[in-house]
Amino acid sequence: MVKDDYRHQGMRKRLVEVLRTKGITDEQVLGAIGAIPRHLFIDDSAFLEMAYQDIAFPIGCGQTISQPYTVAFQTALLGLQPGMKVLEIGTGSGYQTAVLARLGCKVFSIERHRPLYLQTKQRLAGLLVKANLYHGDGFIGLPREAPFDRVLVTCGAPFVPQGLTDQLKPGGRLVIPVGEGDEQRMLRIERSMDGHLLQEDLGAFRFVPMLQDKV
Ligand code: SAH
Repeated sequence: MVKDDYRHQGMRKRLVEVLRTKGITDEQVLGAIGAIPRHLFIDDSAFLEMAYQDIAFPIGCGQTISQPYTVAFQTALLGLQPGMKVLEIGTGSGYQTAVLARLGCKVFSIERHRPLYLQTKQRLAGLLVKANLYHGDGFIGLPREAPFDRVLVTCGAPFVPQGLTDQLKPGGRLVIPVGEGDEQRMLRIERSMDGHLLQEDLGAFRFVPMLQDKV
């Protein structure tokens, strides 16, 4: 079993400084990234050294653990408060899930790839991360647990799924990368108190695709 020792802690501190220089200012989010042992979310210990570089990384099953900058950027956009109910689409390695849980949120996360779902369920339990994980289709969301304060999509969606905006509380926010090519626009969509949807575009990012009809 790979441990979390002073070397990893030092590498994490440096990663936090890198994220600061790239414009991440949310101290809560930086604190969570400084605390979570990202190297324990990467299967192959041969790649340990790369765990704290600001890069995306393959996690098997053709999927990736998002780049730390992207995790920090998306998390900051959510504007989280402890106790919020948050739905994540695309559990993947569980790293983003752990960041949300660390910030005191009640996390629900859906992964469509069953082996990955099973593996991550075990990993998060081993790391004592409290989160509710589901094998399912993110386009549908999680109607039985709705409504949510926040919804976060961590794969590139071809469009904004209506199920996800429907599952937002009034005043709730959805952060979702949208676009079908290899680049997506990062959208933040807020549901106003009277039910209107307000959308902001926060720039270009690259994600693995959000897949339809393949659960
Ligand atoms: N949040 C993850 C990022 C993983 S990459 C992390 O921190 O590691 C995106 C994930 O979205 C992949 O694991 C992929 O299998 C999953 N995914 C793709 N389409 C999906 C869908 N329709 N429903 C749920 N998950 C989906």
